[in-house]
Amino acid sequence: MSRVYNFSAGPSMLPLEVLEKAASEMTDYNGTGQSVMEMSHRSKAFKPIMEKTEALVRELMNVPENYKVLFLQGGASLQFAMVPLNLKKNGKAAYVNTGVWAEKAIKEAGKWMEVDVIASSKDSNYRMIPDVGTISGDYDYAHITLNNTIMGTKWAKIPETGSIPLVADISSCVLSEPLDVSKFGILYAGAQKNLAPAGVTLVIIREDLITDTPVENTPAMLRYDTHVKEGSMYNTPPCYTIYVMGLVLEWIQKNGGAEGMAKRNTEKASMLYDYLDASPYYAATAENGSRSLMNIPFVTKETDPEKADVINKKFVAEAEKAGLVNLAGHRLVGGMRASIYNAMPLEGVKALIAFMEKFAKENA
Ligand SMILES: *Cc1c(COP(=O)(O)O)cnc(C)c1O
Repeated sequence: MSRVYNFSAGPSMLPLEVLEKAASEMTDYNGTGQSVMEMSHRSKAFKPIMEKTEALVRELMNVPENYKVLFLQGGASLQFAMVPLNLKKNGKAAYVNTGVWAEKAIKEAGKWMEVDVIASSKDSNYRMIPDVGTISGDYDYAHITLNNTIMGTKWAKIPETGSIPLVADISSCVLSEPLDVSKFGILYAGAQKNLAPAGVTLVIIREDLITDTPVENTPAMLRYDTHVKEGSMYNTPPCYTIYVMGLVLEWIQKNGGAEGMAKRNTEKASMLYDYLDASPYYAATAENGSRSLMNIPFVTKETDPEKADVINKKFVAEAEKAGLVNLAGHRLVGGMRASIYNAMPLEGVKALIAFMEKFAKENA
């Protein structure tokens, strides 16, 4: 049996070693005679899994002592609501609009906050990250989307916000490279891109932002203090997903941690961008200086939209036959997109480039 190279934006590839380890422990975890799927979250066997996973998050992300690590549900999308519900004080927040996920976060926050969109790259079709300089004002917090999964852009530099807590959606770049957690008030990530299967959201929150006075009538499940008090066990956590996250984190640790991932990811992304930039047939869509290491959207240079559409469909179909799957661009952007998260090996990117070269020759 052979595995394909899966370029999906999420859920996405997991390291083969992780899948094999999970498979080997599927029916009998560590001599318990049970799968992790079957055991109580309060059992003696599960507790160390939770503790190990949290300890690895802290070690690999270098999380300072005064931050809590939470394992929640509802995806990154629920954080779009939990952030304003828990951080609202005066009622004003600053958001930067860098794409579809940022827009969704802005829309959700608007239900409780007066939202100032202090910068936007909408005019450039989100091909770059706007320059915001230093963010200041009477904001309860400022929000950015660190890596824009759909447009393939990334903040190269974290904006300064002084005493305003900076909140960042890091769903599609968590642990892809080192990140200074101390610059942020809250970091959150749906796990299904770089950390685990779908079902768990990693939240890292500075202790002074954990309030017992959220917006009135905020449901218990949507309060950070609920989950902090109960160690992410207020209700049943997604046990199996947390277990697989632990295995993925061990794999990251073994492969050099965040620095190791950065090296690996830079090599993969540079190879693909270099190829695209030199190609007479293809072009990357994100601007230099704002390019993502994780999601690389690209198009052919065909300018007739109808012809381009035919070529794109042909590219995606033929790539799939060659074992390179999920290369269609996001429905809102078109073209193609290669998501090359931590688990994508360099060989996968080499295979993609070889295929692209062959396709270009045959279709130019
Ligand atoms: C995928 C993604 C989301 C949505 O995540 P869910 O866990 O499905 O809610 C939000 N933000 C970014 C940047 C993403 O890539």
